[in-house]
Amino acid sequence: KDESTVSITVVGASGDLAKKKIFPALFALYYEVIWWQHFTIFGYARSKMTDAELRNMVSKTLACRIDKRENCGEKIDQFLKRCFYHSGQYDSQENFAELDKKLKEQEGGRVSNRLFYLSIPPNIFIDAVKCTSSSASSGIGWTRVIVEKPFGRDSDSSAALTKALKQYLEEDQIFRIDHYLGKELVENLSVLRFSNLIFEPLWSRQYIRNVQLIFSEDFGTEGRGGYFDNYGILRDIMQNHLLQILALFAMETPVSLDAEDIRNEKVKVLRSMRPLQLEDVVVGQYKSHTKGGVAYPAYIDDNTVPKGSLTPTFAAAALFIDNARWDGVPFLMKAGKALHKKRVQFRHVPGNLYNQNFETDLDQATNELIIRVQPDEAIDLKINNKVPGLGMRLDHSNLNLHYAARYSKEIPDAYERLLLDAIEGERRLFIRSDELDAAWALFTPVLKELEEKNIIPEYYPYGSRGPVGAHYLAARYNVRWGDLGI
Ligand code: NAP
Repeated sequence: KDESTVSITVVGASGDLAKKKIFPALFALYYEVIWWQHFTIFGYARSKMTDAELRNMVSKTLACRIDKRENCGEKIDQFLKRCFYHSGQYDSQENFAELDKKLKEQEGGRVSNRLFYLSIPPNIFIDAVKCTSSSASSGIGWTRVIVEKPFGRDSDSSAALTKALKQYLEEDQIFRIDHYLGKELVENLSVLRFSNLIFEPLWSRQYIRNVQLIFSEDFGTEGRGGYFDNYGILRDIMQNHLLQILALFAMETPVSLDAEDIRNEKVKVLRSMRPLQLEDVVVGQYKSHTKGGVAYPAYIDDNTVPKGSLTPTFAAAALFIDNARWDGVPFLMKAGKALHKKRVQFRHVPGNLYNQNFETDLDQATNELIIRVQPDEAIDLKINNKVPGLGMRLDHSNLNLHYAARYSKEIPDAYERLLLDAIEGERRLFIRSDELDAAWALFTPVLKELEEKNIIPEYYPYGSRGPVGAHYLAARYNVRWGDLGI
């Protein structure tokens, strides 16, 4: 019987992410994964709260999945009994030592394994890591730290952050979280590719004309622009989430599914890429727009955004991988806020098989594979099909795998998968330091140039398809953006 304990401390427990994502994910793990004999959850933040107040706050966001609704209230009560709170400063060794004492009381002398989730703003990461490591790390078990983005804002600041983290932690204790990597469809990407003979042989420049990675939100910053304005869409979405998906999509077959084998392949593909060039980027910012009598605000109308900000809320970019598999294939990224629909997808278009019998010249006999990460997870393969009838007319039809229709199970939240992996020491879905360096190397020069040259973003109306420049960029590489309709 395993007598070791797992203690999870959510640092910044009074915050938004803790309430919305971390505690609900821990609760789901509690009722889905029963192997933890002994576990304790602590909230830590400066706000004054009692254990009861924390429990009350947390209970408001807990829910059981549809297939686990039975005795849900009881499960919530049991879970909350394991939750405690300690108030303290992020730079106080003394306060962390008090936390350590409380953790020890709960651990009852057993082997203690400790996970710290740093859900706090980046300017206090290092203080918190220092105090965690010197005053609250486990003496006789493992100690791991989950770090949230942003991991710096360019190569230099990211390297400085990594250097500071490594003063207090070993590489294998650092779990840099990118929640996109915990999403079901992103996890399925390797399964789709490497376990289906019909796809893997096509996965190269020989058959794929372009790959598109699209992220869109149908809302703006809505009063939370303070953080965003310092980063912008290229840093907030492209350099991390979309680039991670690109690396998984494009990497060579790993030697095994072990974390280091997969991460080695991701680093290799990132290092084979050309740094992004200014002429391959289009930036945009949403402006106010009135539609159906409703006035939608501009980005700069947000009170938390500095007046006259040039921060992009939209970007489109063309990236290239200079290796034998992908030479010359454009990887087009598009990410934006306040667009007309919400969707993440990428597609690939194996070459022109033949070009005839379509209604318009724009239609071609290509295939498209669409992997929709969110919302409404789905895999769609567009094939060319004969329209029934006496004539010979072709159209594009879909072979669909819509998750909601195929699987009755509710899909676990990305944070559940990632927290479970961190507890189990599975590093596959977390970002290694050298991976992060390679990712920043691709984006840092262009980010600097955009800022130094004060490039004015192309303004697009709130709720539109984004700036027209994105279409010219795609057209330069002979690509049409997918219409997103499945
Ligand atoms: P948050 O609510 O702004 O901050 C979390 C907690 O940190 C707050 O409750 C506050 O607790 C403390 N805090 C805030 N500002 C501080 C300051 N200037 N100095 C010291 N303490 C401060 O952040 P969040 O939305 O929960 O996100 C947490 C982390 O995850 C951030 O690093 C963020 O960048 C990252 N992140 C968030 C999301 C999201 O969806 N929210 C997504 C991705 C990444 P006390 O005042 O009680 O100490």
